[in-house]
Amino acid sequence: MPVLKRAKTSDLAHAKEKAEERQEVKKKSRNRGMEKTCWVPGCMEEAKYLNAHAFIEHIPSIFSETLDPTDERVLRESRSALSQAGRWLLGKPITLDELVAFFCDAEDA
Ligand SMILES: [Zn+2]
Repeated sequence: MPVLKRAKTSDLAHAKEKAEERQEVKKKSRNRGMEKTCWVPGCMEEAKYLNAHAFIEHIPSIFSETLDPTDERVLRESRSALSQAGRWLLGKPITLDELVAFFCDAEDA
């Protein structure tokens, strides 16, 4: 089983290779109009630009004033929408505290 034995050391290189392969596939399939399905539960929308789709379709609606602000599900979705927006803004996962700090810092500047 030489393949299994050397798997540990070459794991990282292999994973990198795989990731690059996938990117190649993505690049190629873009021309064929390959669309991805939205990750939001209950939404079966397919879009080329899921971030844009989510922004337009999901984020505004979860902050709608017609939703019960004390509903645990609304709070949970709002929180995850904010985290997602923060990730898009800063390019890394951030906590809501960090997001608040980000906007407060921006205001002071
Ligand atoms: Zn969606």
